[in-house]
Formats: sequence, C-alpha cells, structure tokens
Amino acid sequence: MNYITHALGGVAAGFAVISAVGVHEPVQESIIMTGAVLGSLFPDIDHPKSWITNKVPLAGTIISRLFKHRGFLHTPLFILITWAFISFFTPIWIQEAAELYRIVLFFNGFIPGMLSHLILDTLNVQGVMWLYPISRKRFNLLSIRTGGFGEAVVCAVLSIMLFGQYKGF
Ligand SMILES: [Zn+2]
Repeated sequence: MNYITHALGGVAAGFAVISAVGVHEPVQESIIMTGAVLGSLFPDIDHPKSWITNKVPLAGTIISRLFKHRGFLHTPLFILITWAFISFFTPIWIQEAAELYRIVLFFNGFIPGMLSHLILDTLNVQGVMWLYPISRKRFNLLSIRTGGFGEAVVCAVLSIMLFGQYKGF
C-alpha cells in the first residue's frame, strides 16, 4: 500500500486507541494520533523509495540496505520487540513523570499504528509474514496491487469510515 492508505490506517488506529484508552484532552489525543500515523508509516523504512525513507534519508538509506522490503520490519515479531524495548528502556531513560506519560501516549499510538500497516499490507498480493520466524509463509487476504484500483477502493472506504468517525456517527 502507498503512504496515504497507510496514514489513513494510522488515523483509524489512533481513533481506536483514543476511544479505548478514554483520553479526552486534545493535546493527549494529538500525541496518540501523531504516534499512530508515524507508526503506520514506519515499517516501509525498509524500502529505499518510500515516503518515510525520504523524510529521514540517512537512517532510511541505512535501514533499507540492512533489511529486505517486507521482511523482518514487516512482522508482528518486530512490533513485539519494539514494544518490549520501549516499555523496558523508557522508564530507565526518562525520569520526569509528565514527559514519560507523553512518551507512553505516543507509543500507545505508534505500536497499533505499526499493526495497522501489517493489516493493510496483508490485503496486498505480496502479503505479510505473520508467523515469522516460525514460518516465512506470506499471508494475504486480497490480491490488491500497490497503487492500483483495489488500493483506491480501500483508500476510499477508509476515508468514508474516518469521516463518519470524525462526524461522530
Ligand atoms: Zn509496507
């Protein structure tokens, strides 16, 4: 999927987290939403020409050379490792309670955002290795091609759903 579809998936994940966590304060909602959208775009840092790689060219180029596209960075295992790493190290690195709370909110969006990326890529013909490292089998629910008509339909459906969410119906 392209970055617009993924960003929409990230916004959907952000809305889901905001309602699940029960946050009502605009600043806190924005932190979650920012995390969710960035998380939804992050896995494609393994692609040399992706939107996110363009935004952080040095890190993106290094990461996209180290990792195969739709490889390890596109697995639930990587999401789990990221979550465990953040949960373990942030309380050690960040001592100030208010700052720690903002970082926790950010990653409460970022991790589900990453998950939304895998879900959307599962609609693509290339699929996602959901069982890695047990199996390298790629699972795909649909056979949508990135940038094709199917993706335009997914994009439109997501937009309508999010507009409905925004309007509160
Ligand atoms: Zn991807």
